[in-house]
Amino acid sequence: MPLWRDETTGLVSSQARLGRPLLATGFRRSYGDSCLNTGGALLDMTSLARIMAFDPSTRLLRAEAGASFDLMLQLIVPRGFFLPVVPGTRFVTLGGAIANDVHGKNHHRNGTLGRWVKRLMLLRSDGQEIELTPDDPTGLFQATIGGLGLTGIILWAEIETIPIASSLIEVETIPFEGIGEFFRLAKDSETGYEHNVAWIDCVAGGKNLGRGIFTRGNHAPSGPRDVTARAPKASVPCKLPGYVLNQHTMGAFNSLYFNVRKHRAGPDTVSMLSFFHPLDGVGHWNRIYGPRGMYQYQSIIPPASQEEATCEMLKTISASGQASFLAVLKTLGRLPSPGLLSFPREGTTLALDFPNRGETTLRLMARLDEIVLKAGGRLYPAKDGRMPARMFKAGYPDWDRFAPHIDPGVRSDFLARVTAT
Ligand SMILES: Cc1cc2nc3c(=O)[nH]c(=O)nc-3n(C[C@H](O)[C@H](O)[C@H](O)COP(=O)(O)OP(=O)(O)OC[C@H]3O[C@@H](n4cnc5c(N)ncnc54)[C@H](O)[C@@H]3O)c2cc1C
Repeated sequence: MPLWRDETTGLVSSQARLGRPLLATGFRRSYGDSCLNTGGALLDMTSLARIMAFDPSTRLLRAEAGASFDLMLQLIVPRGFFLPVVPGTRFVTLGGAIANDVHGKNHHRNGTLGRWVKRLMLLRSDGQEIELTPDDPTGLFQATIGGLGLTGIILWAEIETIPIASSLIEVETIPFEGIGEFFRLAKDSETGYEHNVAWIDCVAGGKNLGRGIFTRGNHAPSGPRDVTARAPKASVPCKLPGYVLNQHTMGAFNSLYFNVRKHRAGPDTVSMLSFFHPLDGVGHWNRIYGPRGMYQYQSIIPPASQEEATCEMLKTISASGQASFLAVLKTLGRLPSPGLLSFPREGTTLALDFPNRGETTLRLMARLDEIVLKAGGRLYPAKDGRMPARMFKAGYPDWDRFAPHIDPGVRSDFLARVTAT
């Protein structure tokens, strides 16, 4: 774990001398194997976490790659600025977020984080430090954004921030009874709302198929600018036994959640933290899935087939009896992602959590794969630990342009899996 930027080169060359492939990691909040490197070395970047510069007049923030979103928000929010894109947890590093070209609830307005990266420093395993900007003619910048750490080690990056008046968010929650209604709400909310997202009940079938709660919001025009992190309000004390989460308990939970939210629907003003990062308020939330853990499954389906394919996925999940506990549905806008391997594109993304029930869960995900493939969609590597190589190749046609930029001294379990023949 390097503590200073200039230590990193020495660490990298010592691994190169040993012939051990390296992989830089952040908080390892990626759900799959893109931040694992079996048999190789992991370079934990989380101690390189200094803010290097922030200029309110240009809105540019430069920070070391291990700086967390939490730290950056604590610096800029009280000064009236916000990060242009934030994922569902603030415990991710800048380097990790760039390497996955993360998206937030405002993709239709701001696109991915990579669009806001103005400059970055990349260390290659041969010791070369290369400063890259979006106009880089070699293609290495485009390969590094969303490049899953495979092009080298990001030492620092400079991103553009956005102005805000307050850390409060004015939200409106609207229940919907089916997928058609979700798409109408998403379309209607594109112009007037910066942040849009929906929770969807994946257990419900029949007349309740596709019901959920749509949430849309904007930064409040005035109010406090406070993002002080508080200790989680609740915590899961231990890993729950696997049987606790079953079709019946999840069905009961989802019905209760839907009905409570339905009756409390309407406008409200909430804190930034509870709006963007509700799971950060629950300590050890992952323990709820028990000792066998869970799989995430996040797809994106292009507009032409989004309604039909989303409906088919929901029917498949509901019929399987393997409910997804936390299911998030959102539409992504037209702004192109800069990375050759960026996941976001225009369409509809469905993110699902499945408790791991071994073969049964793998079979369900294989059925979902076929729906995604037929619809011309793809899966998010940050959330994946199992997609077959053919699925990855079909979803990421720019792989052939990306591959020449892979640093020969870098490796990940994800790379080994999706390139296996
Ligand atoms: C609760 C939760 C909600 C989430 N919500 C969203 C969401 O809304 N949108 C979204 O897009 N994602 C979301 N994610 C996924 C998360 O944003 C990404 O997985 C993010 O990349 C994790 O950052 P990290 O610092 O933990 O990186 P890690 O998981 O440690 O690493 C991720 C990748 O980045 C590479 N990497 C890390 N540091 C560097 C570096 N310095 N140089 C080069 N490569 C590096 C790694 O090799 C790896 O390939 C969510 C995850 C969680 C747990």
